[in-house]
Amino acid sequence: MSNRRRPCLDCGILTRNPSRCDAHQAEWQARQDRIRGSATQRGYGSAWQRTRAPVLAAHRRQYGDWCHGWGVPAHAASDLTADHVVPKSRGGTDTPGNLAVLCRSCNSRKHNHE
Ligand SMILES: [Zn+2]
Ligand SMILES: [Zn+2]
Repeated sequence: MSNRRRPCLDCGILTRNPSRCDAHQAEWQARQDRIRGSATQRGYGSAWQRTRAPVLAAHRRQYGDWCHGWGVPAHAASDLTADHVVPKSRGGTDTPGNLAVLCRSCNSRKHNHE
């Protein structure tokens, strides 16, 4: 259990959460849920979206805006995205167990190594 505190991205008070204080984390999560809901209503709910949305949501519930890093130390990131651990071109599947959550820059770094 780390005692390291970080300033909330929204109000700046120190928190043990990776990116936001409890209040703003909850507010942010509610906003994300609304965004996801409207995206689904607009017809973006492809099978792939439906697969990775819960993976992303679970990651955010657990870590908030936090990227575990790919070749770099873990860091705060608001542009998280779920991507395949084993690429589909190498027989990877769309199952949650084959999905890793990274920010976009870590994801593109990962792709450059594939
Ligand atoms: Zn806050
Ligand atoms: Zn990252």
